[in-house]
Amino acid sequence: MILSTQWRCSICLKQILYSELFTFYSKGAVHYTCFREYAKKSSIKSVDIMLEMLEKELKMIVDYKRYINEVSEDIKQLLSDNEKDAEKHAALLTKMIDNMIK
Ligand SMILES: [Zn+2]
Repeated sequence: MILSTQWRCSICLKQILYSELFTFYSKGAVHYTCFREYAKKSSIKSVDIMLEMLEKELKMIVDYKRYINEVSEDIKQLLSDNEKDAEKHAALLTKMIDNMIK
């Protein structure tokens, strides 16, 4: 089953699916791959490093969301808290990259 989110990618304009990596930057929701392509144009080395870390955090979010309904209640809470931390980290990385390439 393919579940789409309520968001459209502000770069490629396609509907974003929950199975895809995505984040939010100053122009709205965006696929990770579209954002990476856009950010790579800057050729700042630190941007590459932060894009790599952002990808890891976004993968964590997808994995936490995937497993959260397969575990007991006590574990669910922990996974949910950790997932929120990953979302926070992803948001901070995206914001920093977005500011650096402006
Ligand atoms: Zn896109």
